[in-house]
Amino acid sequence: MVRAEQVTKRFGSNEVLKGVSLEVQRGEVLCLLGPSGSGKSTFLRCINHLEQVTAGRLTVDGLLVGYRESGGKLYELHPREAAKQRRDIGMVFQRFNLFPHMTALENVMEAPVLVKGVSKAAARAKAHELLARVGLDDRADYYPAHLSGGQQQRVAIARALAMEPKLMLFDEPTSALDPELVGEVLDVMRELAEDGMTMIVVTHEMGFAREVADSLVFMDGGVVVESGAPREVLADPQHERTKAFLSKVL
Ligand code: ATP
Ligand code: MG
Repeated sequence: MVRAEQVTKRFGSNEVLKGVSLEVQRGEVLCLLGPSGSGKSTFLRCINHLEQVTAGRLTVDGLLVGYRESGGKLYELHPREAAKQRRDIGMVFQRFNLFPHMTALENVMEAPVLVKGVSKAAARAKAHELLARVGLDDRADYYPAHLSGGQQQRVAIARALAMEPKLMLFDEPTSALDPELVGEVLDVMRELAEDGMTMIVVTHEMGFAREVADSLVFMDGGVVVESGAPREVLADPQHERTKAFLSKVL
């Protein structure tokens, strides 16, 4: 579903991704970890084409992200085409950026109605279904300010799912939450994984990584230092940098 080959990203002279290669199969969950500044968010943003890769090859579901290939040459996609590509990818951030002036239900309905032209009635029915799926149908008419951080983040997940993405990206979805609210969000993500969603999750929740992820990738300084089955990497890291990092988060 996702294939990165030697993906490089530079901001000016600052090379943030220095040739990242990894693969996520359909239905798999990949957990990405690494110290602050190692390029995790940048990599997710490249997958979603919020950033353009400088070099290398990045495909989602077999399609080059942001480019079209013709006669061995690459052409940038028209913004409209790029937006279309992005629709198939759901993203959940650290900060639950719900629309504050809309209820939970309206937040979830918004994109399907606006972007996909789904009828309001159909979008409302689907939104109720999704809110129920994240355990929040009884909060459908609440505004974000009246929801806990964990509830807001679950609404954010429901909102991403409303676009029926084929891939979900999570960027430290629980790190802004009070500890007692982390579990409810991870539970929703775990169910999503069990239902077969393809996911890339940047997280330092090692329990989640161990139990839910199919593979774990440790990044540092813009490169993949180590990757493999979560249990193996966590129990027996091979590289000094991985060991040093894990000793801090485990
Ligand atoms: P954290 O764990 O703190 O979230 P991260 O691994 O997600 O870190 P990134 O946010 O990807 O790291 O940042 C990697 C590097 O890229 C940093 O040095 C950052 O300053 C730089 N960077 C990120 N976005 C930009 C940008 N838009 N312009 C210039 N530099 C950027
Ligand atoms: Mg980040």
